[in-house]
Amino acid sequence: MGYNVVVDAEKCKGCEECVDVCPSDVFEMQNEKSVPVNADECVFCESCVEVCEEDAITVTES
Ligand code: SF4
Ligand code: SF4
Repeated sequence: MGYNVVVDAEKCKGCEECVDVCPSDVFEMQNEKSVPVNADECVFCESCVEVCEEDAITVTES
């Protein structure tokens, strides 16, 4: 069981809030966009979804 973490790069404004809030270091900034490089470590807390004011992040069970 795992989770899918997706960032819509069109919506992401590069504020880095998701990078700061994620307890599992799922996100990394690349070219001023957040990229979910460690989605395997996601614990489905949904903190990133709550913190993103652009609604750019989707987390679902896989
Ligand atoms: S919180 Fe949202 S807008 Fe900010 S870097 Fe993360 S995905 Fe982008
Ligand atoms: S749901 Fe929680 S653990 Fe998963 S990517 Fe978002 S902040 Fe990180």
